[in-house]
Amino acid sequence: MLAAPSRSARRAPVGGFVARVLGAGPTGALAALALVDAGWSVELRDPLSAEALGQRRRAYAFTQSSRELLERLNLWALIEPQLIPFDQLQLWDLGADRVVAFSPADLAPRQARSGSSAIGWIGRHDTLMPLLLRCLAASDAVRLQLGPEAVPDPEASQRVDLVIAADGPNSATRSRLGVGSWRRTYRQACLTAEVSLRGAVDTQAWELLRPEGPFAVLPLGERRFQLVWSAPTGRAHQLESLPASAFLDRLAGVLPDRFQIEDLFDQPRAYPVELLIAHRLHRNGTLLVGESAHRCHPVGGQGLNLCWRDVAVLHQLARRVTCGQLSLRRLGDAYGRRRWPDLLLTLLATDLLVRIFSNRSQALLPLRRLALGLLARWPRLRRFSLAVMSSGPCAIQGSAPE
Ligand SMILES: Cc1cc2nc3c(=O)[nH]c(=O)nc-3n(C[C@H](O)[C@H](O)[C@H](O)COP(=O)(O)OP(=O)(O)OC[C@H]3O[C@@H](n4cnc5c(N)ncnc54)[C@H](O)[C@@H]3O)c2cc1C
Repeated sequence: MLAAPSRSARRAPVGGFVARVLGAGPTGALAALALVDAGWSVELRDPLSAEALGQRRRAYAFTQSSRELLERLNLWALIEPQLIPFDQLQLWDLGADRVVAFSPADLAPRQARSGSSAIGWIGRHDTLMPLLLRCLAASDAVRLQLGPEAVPDPEASQRVDLVIAADGPNSATRSRLGVGSWRRTYRQACLTAEVSLRGAVDTQAWELLRPEGPFAVLPLGERRFQLVWSAPTGRAHQLESLPASAFLDRLAGVLPDRFQIEDLFDQPRAYPVELLIAHRLHRNGTLLVGESAHRCHPVGGQGLNLCWRDVAVLHQLARRVTCGQLSLRRLGDAYGRRRWPDLLLTLLATDLLVRIFSNRSQALLPLRRLALGLLARWPRLRRFSLAVMSSGPCAIQGSAPE
């Protein structure tokens, strides 16, 4: 059982500015903790109970940008022991038959200096969420309202200084504000399953680029791995409904020979993959944060890290409001200005990766071989690519190839 931080350790000045956070998923929960760290009081609402919030079976790949945020919030020491670090990332284009290995030597100097030799970390939702919820429950500055009765009529709610909409991709808050969104469902769905594998190492993560879609193999420790298998939608749903033995047969058929599957630990689940971007990131004192504002293909494990980079910007701006360096009125505009470049470039980059690598076009093969060949041979290009994957396209000063 994990120890929750003591009340005094997480106490923030109560009073001052008050925010209401709608949605206690991984984005809303961390946004609430970030606001508390910035000196705000927070009311956090979700129609799900604490137990239901912690129950999803999925694992996230965390990048350096998420580590940096957790460090700033003094949460890293608490969360890191629950994460599985990996110090090698193997990018394998099976169509072009090229492999590129990223190692800690490819980290940007700022990240290498941090004393961490990990490129990234894998964390399970069902260990991460209870920990975040315990931190929230331990804070005097948070009023947690969880369960079906926690989402009363927003018109009847007490006024607060700021509303954070972290209520996911089908955000009711976004609709209520009249903020439109641009969304496109990929023809691929994503299938997740937890397996044990021979031929894979606990400190290595793999992104296999297959013609039918990317396939991630993420270490969970003790030879267990989370598979994130993108496949055409119909096939993904068919695979999801297969009995375990038939599913394992299909899996063995698509994995390279070096991986041998030993066991399946859960029922594989398929979920739709879409590109979503809201037309605006704020309106009438409400900010859209996380998947209520954007969603991207899981290739490269960007999704939740991108959500948490929203939280990182919210944290900085909320602190400036607390210190009187930014007026509350201008917070929404400042948030939008800071978030648009990262959001648009990350969504574009993940979409391009899928378009270029998820196909059987012979015409693209020379380009793919050239790109991966250059990456394999040119350390500066690897460092640049890893910095983009780790911290987003807008945080790559000092890592661009000369
Ligand atoms: C089935 C599935 C499997 C996935 N698997 C993976 C994976 O393996 N790896 C990975 O990296 N990513 C995965 N993802 C994506 C990942 O879950 C998202 O990136 C992440 O959950 C986004 O967090 P969020 O907090 O922004 O949104 P969500 O996690 O969607 O949280 C939104 C919260 O808002 C609450 N809410 C809804 N309406 C209201 C309301 N009106 N008022 C208040 N609260 C409300 C919901 O109950 C929910 O708790 C998966 C997604 C799905 C759907």
